[in-house]
This record gives sequence, C-alpha cells and structure tokens, in this order.
Amino acid sequence: MFCPKCKSEFEEGIQVCPECDVNLVEVLPEEDYLEFVKVFESSDPNLTVIIKSVLDDAGIKYFVPGDNMQSILGAKFAFAFGADIGNAQFLVSKEDEAIALELLKEIEDSELVE
Ligand SMILES: [Zn+2]
Repeated sequence: MFCPKCKSEFEEGIQVCPECDVNLVEVLPEEDYLEFVKVFESSDPNLTVIIKSVLDDAGIKYFVPGDNMQSILGAKFAFAFGADIGNAQFLVSKEDEAIALELLKEIEDSELVE
C-alpha cells in the first residue's frame, strides 16, 4: 500500500498514512509526466492558427517548441533564423495522439479542397 501524498510504502493492512492522514492506495497514480508526440508540422502561419484553435476547442493540450521564444523575441528572431523557426511543430500527449491526428486529418482534407 502506498500513500498518494508522501509516496511512502506501507505494509498490507495499514489503511491510512500516519504522517499525512490520507487513505492509502494500492497503486500510486501515474506521475504527471506526459509523453509528447509530434502530430503535425507546418510552415503555414494561417494553418497553425487554425490547428491551435481546433486543438483548443477539443481540449487537447499541445506544445509548440520555440513558440514562446518566437512571441517573446518577435519578428527579429524569426528573421534571423529564417525558415527553420517558421516551421511549427505540434506536440500532443501520447493519449491525445489518436484524436488529434483525426482532427488534423479533417483540417488537411478541407485545406486541400480549398
Ligand atoms: Zn503519507
């Protein structure tokens, strides 16, 4: 048995952590560590804006490496690093990968139609 708060391990039969006064659990919950996978990459700023809003609407957490840096340093940074920084990569957690890919596929399909 484990204490979910202090992560201490206790012998079978003990129900409550004497330190934290919380009920012990048989298995500690997964750490908040999320494995991120790349689901999309685009150099089209219009497209990345669409993708962001779609992922936001779907409640999918995503991460765009370099995105923060870009907004902080602005155009100067983008200019200095040329096309590389303009290629936005979208990373989502492994568990959201399937649904994200599905949503992105719809966007890609509609983009092709236009
Ligand atoms: Zn504890």
